[in-house]
Amino acid sequence: MSDPTNDPTRDRTNDRVSATRSATEARGETFYPGPSRTPLGAYPPKERWDDWVELDSRAWPRRLERHYLLVPTTCFNCESACGLLAYVDRETLEVRKFEGNPEHPGSRGRNCAKGPATLNQVKDPDRILYPMKRAGRRGENRWTRVSWDEALDDIAGRIRKAIAEKRNHEVMYHVGRPGEDGYTERVLAAWDVDGHNSHTNICSSSGRAGYQWWMGYDRPSPDHANAELILLISAHLESGHYFNPHAQRVMEGKARGAKLVVFDVRLSNTATHADHWLAPWPGSEAAILLAIANHLIQEDRYDREFVRRFWNWQEFMEQERPKEPASFEAFEKELEKLYAEYTFDFAERESGIAASVIHEVAKLVAAAGPRLSTHNWRSAAAGNLGGWQVTRTLFLLNALMGAIGVPGGVFPNAWNKFVPKPIHTPPHPRQWNELSWPQEYPLAMNEMSFLLPHFLKDGRGRLEVYMSRVYNPVWTNPDGLSWIEAITDESKIGLHVALTPTWSESAYFADYVLPVGVGSERHDLHSYETHDAQWIGFRQPVLKEAHARLGRQVKDTREVNPGEVWEENELWIDLSWRIDPEGAMGIRKHFESKREPGGKLGVDEYYGFIFSSSVPGLPEKAKAEALTPLEYMRRYGAFEVARSVGAQHAARVPKAELEDMRVTPQGRVYTHSEKPPSANIVPVPSPDPDAEGRRPVGIEVDGDVVRGFPTPSGRLEFYSSTLKAWGWPEYALPTYIRSHVHPQSLEPGEVPLIPTFRLPVQIHTRSANAKWLDEIAHTNPLWIHPSHAATLGLATGDLVRVETRIGHFVVKAWVTEGIRPGVVACSHHMGRWKLDGPGQRQMMATVSLKQEGSRWRLRRERDVEPFASADADTSRIWWTDAGVHQNLTFPVQPDPVSGMHCWHQAVRVKRAEPGDRYGDVSVDTARSREAYAGWLALARPASRHSPDGTRRPYWLLRPLKPAREVYKLPASRPASRP
Ligand code: SF4
Repeated sequence: MSDPTNDPTRDRTNDRVSATRSATEARGETFYPGPSRTPLGAYPPKERWDDWVELDSRAWPRRLERHYLLVPTTCFNCESACGLLAYVDRETLEVRKFEGNPEHPGSRGRNCAKGPATLNQVKDPDRILYPMKRAGRRGENRWTRVSWDEALDDIAGRIRKAIAEKRNHEVMYHVGRPGEDGYTERVLAAWDVDGHNSHTNICSSSGRAGYQWWMGYDRPSPDHANAELILLISAHLESGHYFNPHAQRVMEGKARGAKLVVFDVRLSNTATHADHWLAPWPGSEAAILLAIANHLIQEDRYDREFVRRFWNWQEFMEQERPKEPASFEAFEKELEKLYAEYTFDFAERESGIAASVIHEVAKLVAAAGPRLSTHNWRSAAAGNLGGWQVTRTLFLLNALMGAIGVPGGVFPNAWNKFVPKPIHTPPHPRQWNELSWPQEYPLAMNEMSFLLPHFLKDGRGRLEVYMSRVYNPVWTNPDGLSWIEAITDESKIGLHVALTPTWSESAYFADYVLPVGVGSERHDLHSYETHDAQWIGFRQPVLKEAHARLGRQVKDTREVNPGEVWEENELWIDLSWRIDPEGAMGIRKHFESKREPGGKLGVDEYYGFIFSSSVPGLPEKAKAEALTPLEYMRRYGAFEVARSVGAQHAARVPKAELEDMRVTPQGRVYTHSEKPPSANIVPVPSPDPDAEGRRPVGIEVDGDVVRGFPTPSGRLEFYSSTLKAWGWPEYALPTYIRSHVHPQSLEPGEVPLIPTFRLPVQIHTRSANAKWLDEIAHTNPLWIHPSHAATLGLATGDLVRVETRIGHFVVKAWVTEGIRPGVVACSHHMGRWKLDGPGQRQMMATVSLKQEGSRWRLRRERDVEPFASADADTSRIWWTDAGVHQNLTFPVQPDPVSGMHCWHQAVRVKRAEPGDRYGDVSVDTARSREAYAGWLALARPASRHSPDGTRRPYWLLRPLKPAREVYKLPASRPASRP
């Protein structure tokens, strides 16, 4: 008979209890196993989630048992979407705390501080509980409560009128944190509106662009846990993209012996864990990466077979070296020459990092082979002109080492992400919105969102309805005072609707403020590339589910959310019905029930359909537990669709897909055959079909047809014919672009300011309503090196005036060796302010805002202070600071290729002047206009550079892709070839 203790599926709870009991008793202490018989440190077994028992800590020393329903949801405090478990008191139906969800494959039961702080947001005494309409001028901060019906009828009426009058482009939805995969894009498509606007061009566009140009996918999925070398450009362990899920895997990799190399101008918490911390001159990262690439090439330490099979070297040779044979051997000779100038000495001159250190790192890269996991997201990519080439040169290392799609390497995001098909799929909008996708930026990775005030001021258009959602454009964007100028002008924006759980600097300038739910009060479905697997996570209103488990059905989340807080899924369905109440506009049908034709689609039906019909394996898994797929997701909150997805680029295309195939001389394979549904597990963005309308299906490699990548060539595009054709031949290869803060671009006395780094426990404007987080982090001093501070006579705490090219801000100095000398840094996560009137009192200072012509001054009038509320903790607030809002003083600086705002600033740092006060901000928006014009002049518009008369290469990604016919440039401005 087998030993039952060896059974890996056996519940080991009792073993753990016994072990803990023995250890405790050995110390001579009394062991209390807890009512649920599970020691601290273990997760509540899922079988007990309907009645989990814990002692009430506040009742101590009485042993008062509390009974909980544990309901999963998903954290909404950053993009990582970690699982949470809400502890809902069975008696009071109050959420008592949030902890990690052990059933979530991405976060595996762990969270950062922001996850449990969701509780603060639910209970925030200053949160917006009812729809509000402005009672005075825009920006006066006077409000009156209105009903949802009144607000939505007004908004719907305006949208309906705009669409009926063919002013679809006057409807815009501007989202900060989507927190979902495509729900709202489908709403806008159903309205036939190209009105999706995002924050991505102030966040990650250059990070994404570097990946997109290589492989047609815009995000990496590094396999840190299995790497031998983890190379991070930014602070991923503490605050990077997919922060907690990646951080735990980076530490796992390190525990297995991986080396960690971090490029960061400042000593981040991540850098403190590194084997090598490199603090280069900002913007010189690509020079270092190319020196490493050159070392790999010259020393013949790269994966020749991988390069031969998967790079588009043949296209490069044919286009750029037509006199040479298009052979791989000839290409290798060219490759040796292409990067020969990028020596370690050159990289040292550009970056200030010793050549010997760069050589050390290059040897680590060479030794790691394909187990090289790398990541660049914001950081250098987001800071610098040409930052997208930092990502591209970083990925060059992976492409050289064959570290793509293999354990320990980097996977494209779409292979490690699963987006199921929804119940209705409206057609692509037949509109092109030039306010978001202007002709000057045909290759922009995302909407040119941060230029919107300038486009409105240019007279390029107006907006009838502008909806900002979990987004704070006045505060988050550069040049926020230009935003205020545009947003207060009713001739430019007819109606501003702010969908937000909490007051924000932008909500003050809205006509309606509509209260939407925080992470535990709403539905969303999402999937992120946290590791080599595919999972879906389900965010849900936890009280709705708690009621359901107790046998009470909730129809509308407003029944269980605080006040009249509404979740957005229901809101969008309702608003769409109000826009098209009779169904005559063709909108309503996309929001109707399939079960009850003609009736309104409900959220249960919406997700029930998805989970039952488009998530492979979920129905079977649910059935095994006698649950429906929807019940399964409501009970566990996440489902792993696939594990170890592997090298999809090398997967053979089935013969059934290859009938009628045509192969180009470069090995691109096209077919007329339909894509079988089984292939949907790895979605592939669609590059252009061939002249006869065949779809690209793969590439021919050594006689096999394999999937390849969704680029025009089907291969990894070392050479981008698209960049060349659209006016950027000098950037067709991964190369080094000198940043706008390169020493040669700075004026005398200027130094670079790094304003891009996050604080681990705050998240832009979404976490100021979390008291635990505010207590930990509530200021953003200026990091300055002692040698630099000495030249200015500065000590920590001294007031400093930081002058940008459009104004200045006043901040306190923090003298630290944790920053490269000659560079200063200030986190963007601070500087929240409110006007007199309602606002977020735990983390917003009260300011006065004055305008004289184009000159603006923001001055702090009152610090953060304690206040009485239903939460006794607000009377114990001891901090007074809320930091300084530096972004107001930054001009817009769009990268002419990626469209990304280049965040780093050329600044002068001085001692504060007499009369300066901490937190002062002064800006001249006339100078903002000049800066805008200067950067706009760098662009190469589609009207002059489009090779085919279209606005944008069709194969490039777009969040909401319009119909193909509207890609054509308008006839009034015919395309001309360069
Ligand atoms: S990393 Fe933190 S803030 Fe982000 S989703 Fe996870 S728990 Fe929430």
